[in-house]
Amino acid sequence: MPERRSRVPSTGKASYRICPRCWRAVPATSTERYCPNDGTPLVGPCPRCHAEIHSPYARFCSICGEAFEHYTEKGGMT
Ligand SMILES: [Zn+2]
Ligand SMILES: [Zn+2]
Repeated sequence: MPERRSRVPSTGKASYRICPRCWRAVPATSTERYCPNDGTPLVGPCPRCHAEIHSPYARFCSICGEAFEHYTEKGGMT
């Protein structure tokens, strides 16, 4: 998978948690942990490399390329 270098992660930037089922994004500062639409645990920071998600439209981790859609199972480990 090609590297994405268009944006360098910077501290202090807004980060998000994302529903891997319906792609709803909420600010990481929100107290929401589960998607109110479908009850899916929100993803963020990245479950694989723990990088914060800086785009509300992210479907893959921009650091390690992990696909967030793999985390649609409740308690989705592995
Ligand atoms: Zn959802
Ligand atoms: Zn990652």
